[in-house]
Amino acid sequence: MTEITLTLDEVRALATQTLTENGCDAANADAVAAVITAAERDGCHSHGLMRLAGYVAALKSGKVKGHAEPTVEQLAASVVRVNGDSGFAPLALARGRNALIESARKNGIAAMALVDIHHFAALWGEIEPIAEAGLCALACVSYKPAVIPAGGSKALYGTNPLAFGWPREDKPPLIFDQASSVMARGEVMLAAREGHELPAGVGVDTAGEPTTDPNKVLDGAMLAFGGHKGSSIAMMIELFAGALIGECFSFEAAQRDNNDGGPPSGGELIIAMDPSRFGDPSGWADHAELLFAQIEEQEGARLPSARRYQNRVKTAKDGITMSEAAFASVKALSASS
Ligand code: NDP
Repeated sequence: MTEITLTLDEVRALATQTLTENGCDAANADAVAAVITAAERDGCHSHGLMRLAGYVAALKSGKVKGHAEPTVEQLAASVVRVNGDSGFAPLALARGRNALIESARKNGIAAMALVDIHHFAALWGEIEPIAEAGLCALACVSYKPAVIPAGGSKALYGTNPLAFGWPREDKPPLIFDQASSVMARGEVMLAAREGHELPAGVGVDTAGEPTTDPNKVLDGAMLAFGGHKGSSIAMMIELFAGALIGECFSFEAAQRDNNDGGPPSGGELIIAMDPSRFGDPSGWADHAELLFAQIEEQEGARLPSARRYQNRVKTAKDGITMSEAAFASVKALSASS
């Protein structure tokens, strides 16, 4: 397999051009391209250039507005609501972020409800700027049914990721970001594209039988991580990103989706907390470092996000590599290709 190398600037330019030529205005194209580039930069390829096909499909079908103008409203002292105007999530997130951060600083804690957005990305990139502003954060989003409730037989929950961020002094924030399914759907799609088997225990086929074939799992359903425990977290996310904020559950998102391969319409909830406002204003940061040091002291243990930050150093220097075939399929999405 022949591979090609791209600098991160080239990745961003390719993503921006593809989105612009397919109907995004500059603000929307820039916001989505930044998210795609960050995913490639951190070695999260399942949310990188590979997603452009889905973004383009959603623009072409008219499901997503490439000229969306998200609006920000302060519903209460500590509740911000962003209406995404049927656009991709990244611009809505960028437009609401400062209001969320300011509200959390003023009140100690604040939440941002995003509605009428189309979300297709990893959550860590949304948590990172909030944690870099000195706040702890939690984010969650639902999708379309892909995960069986524990004990059941039919996909009901989305792969529903939950991300958490903790600010650190003089260091990038600690972040974990994980799907409620055993594996993110993007990873299953990547395995299908590259012809790899999945590990056992990821999902079932349409008959409910366990399988390691990624194509059969994509047609069938996935299992929640940790049995009933992951299943309950997926349910909580349905409630936070759905019922709480007047948005849809994953099964409702599927009912209104046109199955063009792009992200469905839905909601997202982000909570931000100012750690200096919870009773230990001068000690919380050093105290947390004690825990992190204890984790890292153990052989084989590492902090979540360490892998991404290491990749970031490498790609800034070396760029990213991808197969020529994958590059050609991305280029083919541009009208001018
Ligand atoms: P992973 O299982 O790969 O990783 C989950 C988290 O665990 C990461 O923060 C990772 O950090 C950390 N981690 C992994 N291995 C270790 C370890 N050995 N020790 C400590 N921490 C570790 O992620 P998922 O497959 O569950 O999810 C992938 C992505 O898919 C997420 O970014 C999620 O937001 C996204 N997603 C998006 C959806 C959407 O609808 N928008 C739906 C579902 C998922 P690190 O990154 O450093 O490895």
